[in-house]
Amino acid sequence: QAKRTGKNKFMLFDERIHDVFSKKTQLSNELRSAIEKHQLRLQYQPIFNLSDLSCEKVEALLRWHHPALGQISPETFIKVAEENGFIIDLGEWVFEQILRDFAEIRQQFGAVEICINISPLQFSQPAPIHQFIAQLATLGITGTHFCFEITEGLLLEPSSQVIDILNILHAQGIKLAIDDFGTGYSSLAYLNKFKIDYVKIDKSFINGITENLNDQALCKTIIFMGNQLHIKLIAEGVETQDQETLLKEMGCQYSQGFYRARPASLTG
Ligand code: C2E
Ligand code: MG
Ligand code: MG
Ligand code: MG
Repeated sequence: QAKRTGKNKFMLFDERIHDVFSKKTQLSNELRSAIEKHQLRLQYQPIFNLSDLSCEKVEALLRWHHPALGQISPETFIKVAEENGFIIDLGEWVFEQILRDFAEIRQQFGAVEICINISPLQFSQPAPIHQFIAQLATLGITGTHFCFEITEGLLLEPSSQVIDILNILHAQGIKLAIDDFGTGYSSLAYLNKFKIDYVKIDKSFINGITENLNDQALCKTIIFMGNQLHIKLIAEGVETQDQETLLKEMGCQYSQGFYRARPASLTG
C-alpha cells in the first residue's frame, strides 16, 4: 500500500515536471512567431516628477497577448526569451516600435524621456543597439530623450565590450537607470565607476514603506545615498498617496506606480 502511494506520488511529481517543461518549450517556440503574428505591443507608464507632478518620463513595458493563454506576464516571457536567445529580436522590435511611437508618446503623455528596459544579453549582441543609435541620427532625434534601464549585474564585472557600449550611450546623451535597485547585489562600487543618472527603488521596498520601519529605513538610506552621489531616485510601485508623501519627504525625486497611473496603450 505504502509502496503504491510512493510510486503514485513520484509519478505525479514527474508528470508535473514534464508539464512545466513542455509548457516552457511551447512558449519558447510560440514567442518566436509572436512578432510576425502581431501579438506584441508596448504600453507606457508615466513617471512623475514630484516637484511639480509633471509626467516627465514614461517607461515602455512589453506585452504579449497569446491567442490561447491570453496576456502572459513579461516576468515569464522575458525569462524564456533570455534563455532561448530571442531577447535580441524582441529588443530590436521594442526599439523600432518606440521610434514609431515617439511623436505620439510625447503628444499623449507630454513626456520628454522614454525609459527602455534592456536585458544584459543585449549588451553581448549589440547590433540592435547600434542600429537604434543610427536611426536616431537619421530621424534627427537626440539621445537625451531616452534612458536605458539596466540591472546591477551588468555593471559588476563588465567586459570591455559592455564598457564600450556604455561610453557610446553616454556620448549620445542616452541616460542610464539602475532598475530594481537593492534586489540584486550588495556591491555599491559600480555606482562610482559609471555615470548613472537614476536609481529605481524596487517596488518590494515601497510596498511596506508606510507600516514597516525596516522598509522605511532601507528607502531612506537608498535615497540619502543617491542624493549624496547626485543620482536621482525613482520609486517604482507607488500605490498610495501616503507612500508618495513619505517618499517625497525622504527626498525622492520621481514617482511611478498605480497610484498615479497604470501602464497604458497609445490611444491614437
Ligand atoms: P520593471 O522594469 O521593474 O517594470 C516595472 C513593473 O512594475 C511593471 O511590470 C509594471 O507594470 C509594474 N508596476 C508599475 N507600477 C506598479 C504598482 O503600483 N504596483 C505593482 N504591483 N506593480 C507596478 P510588468 O509590466 O509586468 O513588467 C515586468 C518586468 O518585465 C519589468 O520590470 C521588466 O524587468 C520586464 N520587461 C518589461 N518590458 C520589457 C522589455 O521591453 N524588455 C525587457 N528586457 N524587459 C522588459
Ligand atoms: Mg524597468
Ligand atoms: Mg523595476
Ligand atoms: Mg521590477
